[in-house]
Amino acid sequence: MFTEDQFIQLSALQHYVFCPRQCALIHVDDVWNDNVFTVRGNILHEKVDTDTYETRGALKTVRALKIHSFRLGLAGKCDVVEFRQSSTGAPEVMPVEFKAGQPKQNISDEVQLCAQALCLEEMLKTHVKRGAFFYGKIRRRVQVELSDELRRQTEETITAVHDIVGRKHVPVAQYITKCKSCSLEDICQPKAMNERKLKAYMKELYDI
Ligand code: SF4
Repeated sequence: MFTEDQFIQLSALQHYVFCPRQCALIHVDDVWNDNVFTVRGNILHEKVDTDTYETRGALKTVRALKIHSFRLGLAGKCDVVEFRQSSTGAPEVMPVEFKAGQPKQNISDEVQLCAQALCLEEMLKTHVKRGAFFYGKIRRRVQVELSDELRRQTEETITAVHDIVGRKHVPVAQYITKCKSCSLEDICQPKAMNERKLKAYMKELYDI
């Protein structure tokens, strides 16, 4: 069990799956920089983070719900949580996350959604079968089954983030294709870092 001062932010998981160094720069070194992708996301979240709820028939929708898990040492917020009566009479709980873009190639969004579900399961003592995304670019809702494999990957990611945050470890930069879409590229300087490392290596080897 974790204490509140050991909690990591839910957003750190998504950052870690995108790039462990990005996660450490944000959550260890406290660095932030916006780019077109983060600004689009912020505008969308300003619209949905309204801290309200509404009921329509058997569906109750709660927005901007604060969540946490003492077991996993996590805290954050769900854009939306839907509560509906299932056919068995038991309430079905489903987190819904709003994304400005479209489904990603990596599992960063799914890990974030699954972590939200794990928090809700602990807080509400329930089982969350699925979650959903609403992607702004394709204007479509996409459902995600919270499989055992996704739960395993999510818990592994949580452990890895606790490790780098706990050790205050910032991994070395490595230039990769997705650096082009990273809002921290100017600060991280992944190419310069690699050149510096190469020079240091050559100096050590050949003293040049
Ligand atoms: S620029 Fe590249 S290496 Fe640096 S934090 Fe972003 S994705 Fe990671």
